[in-house]
Amino acid sequence: MPSGEYDPDTVEAKWQDRWVDDETYAYEGAADPDTAFSIDSPPPTVSGSLHWGHVYGFTLQDFVARFNRMRGKEVYFPFGYDDNGIASERLAEDELDVRHQDYERREFQRMTQEVCAEYEAEFTEKMQDLGISIDWNQTYQTISPAVRRISQLSFIDLYEQGREYRQRAPAIWCPECETAISQVETEDDEQPSHFHDIAFEVVGSGDEDEEEFTISTTRPELLPACVAVFVHPDDDENQYLVGETARIPLFDQEVPILEDERVDMETGSGVVMCCTFGDQTDIEWYQAHDLDLRIAIDESGTLTDVAGEYEGLSSEEAREAIVEDLDDAGALLDRWEITHTVNVHERCGTGVEFLVKDQWYVELLDKREEYLQAGREMDWYPEKMFTRYRNWIEGLQWDWSISRQRSSGIPFPVWYCAECDEPVLSEKENLPVDPLSDEPPVDACPECGHDEFEPEDDVFDTWATSSLTPLINAGWDWDGEEFTFENPELYQFDLRPQGHDIISFWLFHTVVKCYEHTGEVPFDSVMINGMVLDENREKMSKSKGNIVAPDEVVSKYPVDAARYWAAGSAVGDDLPYSEKGLRAGEKLLRKLWNASKLVESLTDEAPEEFDHDDLAALDRWLLAELDREIERLTERFADREFSKARDGLRGFFWHTFCDDYLEIAKQRVRDGGDPSAAYTLEVAHRRFLKLFAPILAHATEELWHDMHGDGSVHRTEWPEPLGVDADFAAGETAMAVVGALRKYKSDEQLPMNAALDRVEIWGDVSGFEDDISGVMHVEELATLEERPAVESVVTGVDLDYSLVGPEFGSQVPDIEAAIEAGDYEVVDGELHAAGAELGAEMFEIEEERQYLGEGEMVEAGDAIVVVHDEA
Ligand SMILES: [Zn+2]
Ligand SMILES: [Zn+2]
Repeated sequence: MPSGEYDPDTVEAKWQDRWVDDETYAYEGAADPDTAFSIDSPPPTVSGSLHWGHVYGFTLQDFVARFNRMRGKEVYFPFGYDDNGIASERLAEDELDVRHQDYERREFQRMTQEVCAEYEAEFTEKMQDLGISIDWNQTYQTISPAVRRISQLSFIDLYEQGREYRQRAPAIWCPECETAISQVETEDDEQPSHFHDIAFEVVGSGDEDEEEFTISTTRPELLPACVAVFVHPDDDENQYLVGETARIPLFDQEVPILEDERVDMETGSGVVMCCTFGDQTDIEWYQAHDLDLRIAIDESGTLTDVAGEYEGLSSEEAREAIVEDLDDAGALLDRWEITHTVNVHERCGTGVEFLVKDQWYVELLDKREEYLQAGREMDWYPEKMFTRYRNWIEGLQWDWSISRQRSSGIPFPVWYCAECDEPVLSEKENLPVDPLSDEPPVDACPECGHDEFEPEDDVFDTWATSSLTPLINAGWDWDGEEFTFENPELYQFDLRPQGHDIISFWLFHTVVKCYEHTGEVPFDSVMINGMVLDENREKMSKSKGNIVAPDEVVSKYPVDAARYWAAGSAVGDDLPYSEKGLRAGEKLLRKLWNASKLVESLTDEAPEEFDHDDLAALDRWLLAELDREIERLTERFADREFSKARDGLRGFFWHTFCDDYLEIAKQRVRDGGDPSAAYTLEVAHRRFLKLFAPILAHATEELWHDMHGDGSVHRTEWPEPLGVDADFAAGETAMAVVGALRKYKSDEQLPMNAALDRVEIWGDVSGFEDDISGVMHVEELATLEERPAVESVVTGVDLDYSLVGPEFGSQVPDIEAAIEAGDYEVVDGELHAAGAELGAEMFEIEEERQYLGEGEMVEAGDAIVVVHDEA
């Protein structure tokens, strides 16, 4: 039985433990896809701290999970850790203060996994402290042998389907992380830089004929990599250069001057250099014009021997040195500061380079339309997020490079013939393999018969594995004949929840992979959550110092209050941090607790059953109203309109149930043990706990156990409407009448059970007369046929001074005095006072309803109540 004040600290911790110990949210298996509700929850990378992205995202997923569980679905809500990528490697490097290059690969992997294991254990506890209804039996790690197997199977399957290729081609490269990265891992960053005007010579027939032209560039350190110079075909001014040869200052290589439409005539002189490689256009020119390859910058961003005396310098050092030497040589014509957009690695912020490397690619560009169509087949919450998916696909310029030159990660199950470079893939049965320690499945090269092989020592891009989460969760495997699922009922997944920032990374790549492996779109629906912002709707960041850590919040407020606040924004919108929202959650918890205590005290003798036809009209009305709220709420939860669901239910509970009905029912039960009221309270209360359960998960569980049953409220059935009939309008009017009479008694300082001689009502309360009389102790209740004589009396005039002031100036005091004295008229909507005529927009007449008959009138919404009370 609930008693005392609500104590969330004790209650929440107790249930968080019990839910885990009792396996309250365990997936029990489902006969078919219709009964299963599967969630492909996002596996966080382990970094130790809990971010808002986790807390907010998982809380929204939890609303969906809890709602569907109560709706009779077997909910599969797993949890994974994405611990095979650069993030884990970086975590281990930071934690142990080491560099991965200094260790043998297996040794470093072991160290990384140890560090991750500690962080994961801590993170799991934090997740459990949030009360998310995850099934902790269903967990995975992307570095585990089982996932390595699936990831390598995926590689082999795509290869066999002809969807992968290995190519020596320019790849996007991060010189800081020293690995190839994919387009999706880059972002644009505004950075300060310098523009340099550099004089290039035209190589002529003789020294006297030499001419010069100007190239503008932000990257003079690429001069040694220059392989051509380009002019736009429409550039009349520089057209004379086309067909000539240019000599590069300091480095002296001679390169052709060509024309190409990709030249941006607006930048600098309109003459540009092409280096291998400075940007995407350089790569296109290199391919289109079959240019030389001059690699001046290596994997670590250091200049190569192509750069001559600058070899060994970092690209920044080289830039400074080259600019200085250009200046000395008289070739630096100008230099000025600019801010420009640099394509950087999103993880470390380093400007990307382009290197020619052997890389594995998943083909994407040829199937853009199909992947777009796959996106259209999923339901998007909110719908507008589909645009981001579409924009990403429409902007794709590269196939997906999946090779990474890192220590940690899942190895390619590939060896190459030492003679002819033919790739040899592992047998699917043998996976997972590590080609660095395992032998290839053949003794001789199938192409040339040679018997020596080189292992592939690259690893997969993290997204190549995390894009398989639906397959990991459903137990995808190769049985020797075909691909199978351990839990086929889970696939396709009912829900993919995730942040909007990884639509291009995670969602797109998951669609591609799963679609290619199964021929099916992996998700029925996608739910995209926004970000948590600060109270001023600004992005939280370390530099701004406006971060409020989730840990702090849940140590200060009940988790249920945080859940309440998290429900307060539309799916997909950003959620501003709000103390007010958290306090509103706390207040609701107290209200629910205190109302429950009251219900408990009133329902000791409540009958277990009651014929609904015999219920008092007010009780029928409440249950019928509750039916309507259940219908609304169910629809809103199903549509993932959490804030509407929350606000609607809160309003109904707080006002209709607590303020109106509960007060009346309390009086009825206390006055005479009214069984109809007691029964209704009991039924309604059970229903309210269930309806609140998805949001206020802990408090409802505590109250449910205290008052209604032993099992978890989260395993009970979601309430269906009872189908009780009632006259809604009359019931609402009756409520208003009772409310008005309560206010009357309170204003007159009468006890609530004081008798009232006679009450007259103008308004439809038919069927509710006895309830009103009973609860308000009315001796004689009459309904009026005619509206009582209520008149509108003008009580004043409200002037809009922003208009009246400028128009009438010094006349205003006279106008005010005339109005005060009642010496004015309204003619055709204009106010005439003190000789002035004020237009309709300048004033408003204030009116009050006054009752001029016998007795006292009290307002009751649209109804009018007249109280005749001799006492
Ligand atoms: Zn990087
Ligand atoms: Zn061979």
